[in-house]
Amino acid sequence: MPGANDENVSRMPHNQQKSIAILGSTGSIGVSTLDIIAAFPERYSVVSLSAGGNIDLLKKQIEQFNPEIVAVADSGAAQRLRDEMPENGPQILTGTEGLVHCATHPQADMVVSAIVGAAGLVPTMAAVQAGKDIALANKEILVAAGDLFMAEVEKRGVQLIPVDSEHSAIFQSLAGQRGQDVRRLILTASGGPFRNASLADLQQVQPADALAHPNWEMGQKITIDSATMMNKGLEVIEARWLFNLPTRQIAVHIHPQSIVHSLVEYCDGAMIAQLGVPDMKTPIAYALSWPERLPLEQNPLDLCRGSDLSFSEPDLERFPCLGLAYRALEIGGTSPAVMNAANEIAVAAFLQGRIKFLQIPAVITQVMENHQTVFATEIEQVLAADAWGRQRAEQIISQGVA
Ligand code: NAD
Ligand code: MG
Repeated sequence: MPGANDENVSRMPHNQQKSIAILGSTGSIGVSTLDIIAAFPERYSVVSLSAGGNIDLLKKQIEQFNPEIVAVADSGAAQRLRDEMPENGPQILTGTEGLVHCATHPQADMVVSAIVGAAGLVPTMAAVQAGKDIALANKEILVAAGDLFMAEVEKRGVQLIPVDSEHSAIFQSLAGQRGQDVRRLILTASGGPFRNASLADLQQVQPADALAHPNWEMGQKITIDSATMMNKGLEVIEARWLFNLPTRQIAVHIHPQSIVHSLVEYCDGAMIAQLGVPDMKTPIAYALSWPERLPLEQNPLDLCRGSDLSFSEPDLERFPCLGLAYRALEIGGTSPAVMNAANEIAVAAFLQGRIKFLQIPAVITQVMENHQTVFATEIEQVLAADAWGRQRAEQIISQGVA
């Protein structure tokens, strides 16, 4: 992770093409990344792609970007894709091993880590170990294994550039500053679709209501996380590791307009922020091109037209998931990994109609209470905690949440 000073910035000459590997190419971030790559073919090429199971879209991406390796998580889907590809098509791999091949392709200069959930951990860690620079969209990796992951980033000397809009904003607001002058990071949160809902309203929330985010178009899991505000909790943990600051120096402000993407407050009271329209293409492009900027064709933010900016404190009573994330950080060790695992299972159960909206934090709380925290020194211990958290959450859901 580059620090506040960018003396050690290695500038890639304009005429040198960067080879990109994408983990999660069929998702919201993956598709936006490929849109940017398609707009700058002289600067970027694609060496590998990977996806869960959406092979119709993956096929189109293969035809357009001509990767050498493609990894498909679902083995049935991988076989269908093999059957449908011409002889001279890419190598099609499957399982975690396939993802690792995708992430460690010898020609890859940078890996865009955009698989959703802790499933991104093993391949992204492998990419770091192979010396790849990382554009990090996946926040669950740092939640599950922040200390181990950051230690590996440091050890291998790779660049880790955040894609998450808040962290990209902080990264940009730290440029040219000294780390010791930072007083606080302030992460902004839209508040999601239920910002003004009462607890009684929240009892009645259906998946379709929670999937209708007012400002951002995203994958299903992060959209539900935004509605519960677990997304902001995960981002607090992400910020803790990316910027190496204690939790007490990381605050959250509700900012419904999603224009100020986050702020850094300095010891003299100055605040530096990054503003822009809510479009992930800006932070994705910045991660790909850092320390340069790409000329994106996008309507710029018009501050003179209907863009009042307001801020308030989050309500932890209506949105207990944010408090759970602070609590998990406080406990430390495998607690955030288990919280994350329980959240992934609870969100999936909510989307399937198996539990109610307010049962999401109830499941997570119970799993966290049942967990014996381990201070992991190996990634296998984190993976074991993640597996335990999933299994315990499933048990609680199938027995009926209290
Ligand atoms: P998404 O659901 O739209 O896409 C996820 C991608 O991962 C898809 O390509 C899917 O096929 C793949 N995938 C899912 N499970 C997999 C598995 N087990 N193995 C291999 N591939 C798998 O999600 P998204 O919204 O693009 O989010 C991706 C990540 O980026 C998340 O961690 C999210 O929190 C983070 N993020 C997203 C946004 C956004 O605007 N979408 C913003 C900030 C951060
Ligand atoms: Mg974000």
